[in-house]
Amino acid sequence: MNHEEVFKKVISHAKEYGFVFQSSEIYDGLSAVYDYGQLGAELKNNIKQHWWKSMVQMNENIVGIDSAIFMHPSTWKASGHVDAFSDPLIDNKDSKKRYRADVLIEDHIAKIEGKIDKEIKKATKRFGDDFDAEMYRQTNPRVKGYIEKITDIEKRLKQCLDEEDLEGVKQLIIDEEITDPVSGSRNWTDVRQFNLMFSTEMGSVAEGANTIYLRPETAQGIFVNYLNVQKTGRMKLPFGIAQIGKAFRNEIVARQFIFRMREFEQMEMQFFVKPGTEMEWYNHWKEERMKWHLSIGVPASEYRFHDHIKLAHYANAAADIEYNFPFGFKELEGIHSRTDFDLKQHEEFSGKKLQYFDPETQESYVPYVVETSIGLDRMFLATLCASYQEEKLEDGSERTVLKIPAKLAPYKVAVLPLLKKDGLPEKAREIIDTLKGDYMCQYDEKDAIGRRYRRQDAIGTPFAITVDHQTLEDDTVTIRDRDTMSQERVKAAELFSIITSKLKG
Ligand code: ATP
Repeated sequence: MNHEEVFKKVISHAKEYGFVFQSSEIYDGLSAVYDYGQLGAELKNNIKQHWWKSMVQMNENIVGIDSAIFMHPSTWKASGHVDAFSDPLIDNKDSKKRYRADVLIEDHIAKIEGKIDKEIKKATKRFGDDFDAEMYRQTNPRVKGYIEKITDIEKRLKQCLDEEDLEGVKQLIIDEEITDPVSGSRNWTDVRQFNLMFSTEMGSVAEGANTIYLRPETAQGIFVNYLNVQKTGRMKLPFGIAQIGKAFRNEIVARQFIFRMREFEQMEMQFFVKPGTEMEWYNHWKEERMKWHLSIGVPASEYRFHDHIKLAHYANAAADIEYNFPFGFKELEGIHSRTDFDLKQHEEFSGKKLQYFDPETQESYVPYVVETSIGLDRMFLATLCASYQEEKLEDGSERTVLKIPAKLAPYKVAVLPLLKKDGLPEKAREIIDTLKGDYMCQYDEKDAIGRRYRRQDAIGTPFAITVDHQTLEDDTVTIRDRDTMSQERVKAAELFSIITSKLKG
């Protein structure tokens, strides 16, 4: 299966089993807006809980808030979003498709990177174990040429974006002979800027300020509450404020399923530090966040850092954690050193001081901020893509299984009476009653046991407990492991502690 096929399968599996539906589907859907179904809501909640626990519960100096989606319109003036939250847009005149000009160029760079990878793979085969890929990169003329080309394109793109030279961006697309990925055409319009914020009106706001925005990021809700939390929580620097919530962006190109949506959810943490220490904390959080991803169990080769070539107006350092989605390595999380930009801007626009009194140095100053910002929906998609597998079994049959890490799986346990009679269903219900206070359980008595196992595999349930006639005699059941499909017979009375320790492990 190629990557495109895998992605198509993941999307249709997500729909078929109630993870993700197109929003307003009965009206033919709403572009780039999705609903989470009965299993999707569970998986999403589990990802949220896992993040909240690692960030808030496990760190004494991080607290969580839940701020409103609507904020005073001056917030977005101060943050720079009204003036600068836009993307460079370009249309193809033949296909009538719209693209982000910078993304077209980045995809072009990725293609060249692909060529380098191919050369290196070929050489690895040719030279065997002694092959030094780094040396090859530095010396092979063809690879060197590709690397120089990438450096040159990146430099031009950065310069154009920094200088807001939209004609320069178009020229780069022309010079690189970048074609429309759909039609292959090079018939492009000019590049223009497009603001991504959704606006609406609020009746009761004072005259002249009645346009309000749906927040495009959750971070500003944290910044405007910085002092409230610092004072009421008696927080000492360095400390963090975390938040999970919806954000809205009128994305120019919204494809790739839930990767780029117009309504999505972010899990963000703003870490307030003493000025001058921000790079140390930036590196700390880069490392910590990568560790968090790796601890979930996906191989390290599926993740990489990508340092930003163009820094946002508020940042002095920024990197993405990219995941190897079926459509390539793409941003999953951003780690940004935001300096004191946001708090200073809010001081200026609100006329209120947002400073920290440092008891050690007896000075007051505006803290610097390091942000970690991960898209919940992208994490959801990465989890689905990483766990979707089609397996050929020894007996020649096939199964589709979602090997979702057990702690994130929607249902933890399925309880299955072998037959729909002889008191087995009643016993199965009894077992569920002992587990459902702590774990999401599913009861299923329909169809042959093999088909029921397959259904649980397809939704990623890590443990299936089967109640059979022996259960009635000695109170034992079998517990089947989703990934190995092996079964062991255990005492029903010990199920809770067995499952708990397996989930912790
Ligand atoms: P991109 O370059 O992909 O547009 P971004 O750099 O604008 O993303 P940030 O502003 O850093 O994204 O937002 C932080 C995180 O929020 C991203 O890492 C991503 O996981 C998530 N995110 C941003 N935009 C979207 C979207 N339209 N749909 C889903 N998730 C998103």
